[in-house]
Amino acid sequence: MITFPEFSRLAWLRYGVAVVASAAALLLTGLFWPLFRNIPFMPAFLAIFLAGWFGGDGPSFLAVALCAVGLDFFFYPPVSSLRLEEPYDILRIIVFLVVGSLGSLVFRQLWAAKHHRAQLVMTAENARASAETAAGELEQILESITDGFCALDRAYRYKYVNHRAEEILGRRREELLGKSALEGSPMSEAGIGSVRKAMDQGETCHAQAFNPILQRWLATDIYPSPDGVVVLFRDITDRKRAQEEIRRMAAIVESSEDAILSETLDGVITSWNAGAQSLFGYKAEEIVGQPISMLMPRDRKNEMQEILERIRQGERVEHYETVRLTKDGGVVPVSLSVSPVKDESGNIVWAAKIARDITEQKRQQAERERLYREAQEAARVREEFLSVAGHELRTPLTSLQFQLHALRRRVKSGEQDKAVELLDRAAAQLERLVRLTEELLDVTRITTGRLELELEETDLGQIVKEVVNRHKDSTSRAGCEVRVFAPEGITGIWDRSRLDQVITNLLSNAVKFSNGKPIEVRADLDTSWARLTVEDHGIGISPEDQSKIFERFERAVSKRSYGGLGLGLWITRQIVDAHHGRIEVTSRPGQGSTFRIELPLKPPGGALA
Ligand code: ADP
Repeated sequence: MITFPEFSRLAWLRYGVAVVASAAALLLTGLFWPLFRNIPFMPAFLAIFLAGWFGGDGPSFLAVALCAVGLDFFFYPPVSSLRLEEPYDILRIIVFLVVGSLGSLVFRQLWAAKHHRAQLVMTAENARASAETAAGELEQILESITDGFCALDRAYRYKYVNHRAEEILGRRREELLGKSALEGSPMSEAGIGSVRKAMDQGETCHAQAFNPILQRWLATDIYPSPDGVVVLFRDITDRKRAQEEIRRMAAIVESSEDAILSETLDGVITSWNAGAQSLFGYKAEEIVGQPISMLMPRDRKNEMQEILERIRQGERVEHYETVRLTKDGGVVPVSLSVSPVKDESGNIVWAAKIARDITEQKRQQAERERLYREAQEAARVREEFLSVAGHELRTPLTSLQFQLHALRRRVKSGEQDKAVELLDRAAAQLERLVRLTEELLDVTRITTGRLELELEETDLGQIVKEVVNRHKDSTSRAGCEVRVFAPEGITGIWDRSRLDQVITNLLSNAVKFSNGKPIEVRADLDTSWARLTVEDHGIGISPEDQSKIFERFERAVSKRSYGGLGLGLWITRQIVDAHHGRIEVTSRPGQGSTFRIELPLKPPGGALA
């Protein structure tokens, strides 16, 4: 079936209709001439109508012209001629032409209206087709988008639910369509609030909230629509968890006391935490983007290449102990752990590094080794002391035993003089034993804090002389001349017997180590201090031993060559300290030693120690 617009485009058909209708009208007029004699234009008007109706104004004009010519030619005298003789016929033809033309003009309007209508119909048809296509395409889009999409009407009923929405909400669309979103829906309270707001106030709402029903995080955009609202939403749970994880990790990294940093495989620093700032001194803004080699001492530059090469191979570097430079140029010992960091495609793109300051660890280790060495040394010294002490005690005991046997023989044989001589020697050995035992007891007293001084006014020069006199025999036996320069009247508040012990110790050491060379003992006064000096010209003491000899059990000579427990100087120093005094030694090996003691005349603050 030909549509109007199509037909209107077929001119030959329209004009053909006019020609056929005109011919049919003339034929009809001819056939029924008696009937149409008085109204010969009736069939012609019918033809004009048909031509005008089906063909428009052009064919209608053609029909007017054809019918006028045909009627004139076939029916008005003279017949078979176009001439007209009767004025009345001329008038009728003219009237016919005028009326026919007016009719044709009416058809022009009619056709214009038909055209317009046809165009409207066509436009509407096209619009409907386009709308259908658009609706189809829109549905396709809505079904294929990765967001959930719902349309709600003004009564909050689901009108449309796309496939993704079904997945996120965990419901099939048949269960939701037509149902109210306010009741029994998987929408959270917050979601319902936003939908109401968009519906009531016509405002667009955007929200991110945790949906406790779905146990998922949803990002929702709600837009008012003419029929209600449309809701677009997406599941952002993974993103939220990832963000949370990143925040948590960032907080851990930031609060870590270790330095945590990352760098590219070319060694450019990309991140820097607070721990790194406090370890190396640089702030993040100063160092991010800078080469890691800034932290390397000159002789460690190769290390960086080696570490980064291992990282490129996917290896980890653990607890690598090295040193790094700080901002102020210091060198800090660190333990490094470096791991490769991969991107989403699995390519190694970064190195993550943890640097721990091991200064304290190293110090504790220096310290542990020192304590271990000291403990070993102390054990060695103690062992040596025990063997020395055993030897020292045994020597006088053996000779005492020997002298007692000899004494018995001399007494039996009545050799009085010899017996007395042996008794003197035995008494000397006993004195030595008593002194050794006293020294040992002093060690116990001092270490348990029981060294108590009995302070009284004491004359230093007087004690010096007493001690020297008391040791006259032993010093002369050793071949030592002892020169004393000690005026009397150097008085202070001191413990007399302990000062005696100090002078005895220094003098007996000087005798023991001077190899028969002279010894000088001096005492003098310096304002509020008294000074005592014991100088010998014996074997001397090496500089490294000078600092040790005041310690317990420390000896700078072999036990074979010289007797002694290594306690005399230690006890001497303790006594001097208890008097708030000072003791020092100056010595050159092979040239002799000078021991100098300075004592305040009174204990500080007037207190008795
Ligand atoms: P000792 O019983 O071994 O003499 P001391 O504590 O009195 O113990 O002395 C410690 C060490 O100091 C001695 O063993 C010796 O090596 C050294 N010493 C002390 N006085 C002198 C001195 N006048 N000359 C050389 N060495 C000395």
